[in-house]
Amino acid sequence: MDRELQAVVELFRAYAQRQILVVTGAGISLASGIPTFRGSDAGAIWKKDVTELGSFRYFSRDPVGSWRWYLARFEKTAEAKPNPAHTALVALERWCQRQGGEFLLVTQNIDGLHRAAGSQNLIEVHGRADRIRCPRHGCKNGAPAGSLDRAGFDLGKFAAEPSPDTLPRCPCCQAVLRQHVLWFDEYYDSHRDYQWPRVLGAAATADAVLFVGTSFSVGVTDLILNAALERHRPIVSIDPAGAAPAPDVVMLRSRAEAILPAACARLGAALARTTAGT
Ligand SMILES: [Zn+2]
Repeated sequence: MDRELQAVVELFRAYAQRQILVVTGAGISLASGIPTFRGSDAGAIWKKDVTELGSFRYFSRDPVGSWRWYLARFEKTAEAKPNPAHTALVALERWCQRQGGEFLLVTQNIDGLHRAAGSQNLIEVHGRADRIRCPRHGCKNGAPAGSLDRAGFDLGKFAAEPSPDTLPRCPCCQAVLRQHVLWFDEYYDSHRDYQWPRVLGAAATADAVLFVGTSFSVGVTDLILNAALERHRPIVSIDPAGAAPAPDVVMLRSRAEAILPAACARLGAALARTTAGT
């Protein structure tokens, strides 16, 4: 790992006083027990169905089916805790800030683990599993800016007896509520929480980009990757299994939960205290 570790350490040393953009995907949460969508891990059971089930089209056609699928998925998410890779990114953020640099973390994950670990400059560009919203644009509980705390709804009745009658409804307009996530047939600018203009800005100005556990198969990774390639910025990707998306990307095969804490130790970035593993 030492050569790979050196690549991460050098990236942070060289750019800590400038602007570092970190992009994370499902791979970073694998060590927290959350299966990936498209990975080769045994839990990636939704591979075939995900683009169909994770769509507004499916929710519109079969809201009961859509809700059942998400409840099954979110069971794992609710129990998950940040792992050492999440914790290390918090330490790296603080380390960069102390040196006057900008550190922005864009995650495709909806599991909330970066937030739970303590990341501050964070964009959850695919939404949040812990929130739900009204599907009606313009309702105060829906797009462009509204959402509701999932914990405020008792979903036990629906889980025990899934039917249109037990689906959670908008307290304002009675529409059947939906997940607060970006679906495959929706646009990044469809809700303010996705902070798409900020992502575009960071893609256009980042001095260095670090990808962690992402498969380069979604719009946001493509966009950030191409913007960095066009501007000849250094790009490092930590992914034990994936293929290099371009010849100029430095691919590291170490596991994120090993290499990122090791990089913190080498840089002298103190690891933040979190509830992980307790
Ligand atoms: Zn509503």
